[in-house]
Amino acid sequence: KESWAMMFQRQHMDPDGPSNDSNYCNQMMRRRLMTEGLCKPVNTFIHEPLVDVQAICLQGNIICKNGKPNCHKSSSSMKITDCRVKSSSKYPDCDYHTSHKERHIIVVCGGNPYVPAHFHASV
Ligand code: UDP
Ligand code: UDP
Repeated sequence: KESWAMMFQRQHMDPDGPSNDSNYCNQMMRRRLMTEGLCKPVNTFIHEPLVDVQAICLQGNIICKNGKPNCHKSSSSMKITDCRVKSSSKYPDCDYHTSHKERHIIVVCGGNPYVPAHFHASV
């Protein structure tokens, strides 16, 4: 069974990306299995080394929107790509806007070892 930590890596980690391709999100959302059953509406890929993303769990502890204490904000800004489904997109032909950004990211950490389990937001 896929753990939260493995799911986070599948959905959000792309340390070697992005390719300079406007089709980035269309390809990646399909390749990482987020276009099965529905087109996942919004998803962020992180272009930083896994160790640097895992280290966020030792940084800036903040209260999550749901009141839980295990949200963490990265102390540095990170290279990310936001994928957002176009309003004209019709499943199963999932069609995404691709936007490259540099932002601080907020993740939920969990488990032992304490690692990212959920992508919360970029700020
Ligand atoms: N999401 C993302 N980047 C964002 C915002 C959301 O990848 O900037 C993804 C993330 O996987 C999240 C899902 O979209 O779990 C749903 O986000 P939403 O804010 O609707 O719900 P929540 O974060 O409260 O679960
Ligand atoms: N989740 C949770 N605890 C965790 C990790 C995830 O409750 O330690 C929940 C979270 O609230 C979210 C769901 O699992 O609604 C998975 O979110 P999603 O499918 O959007 O994937 P994600 O972007 O979080 O990896």
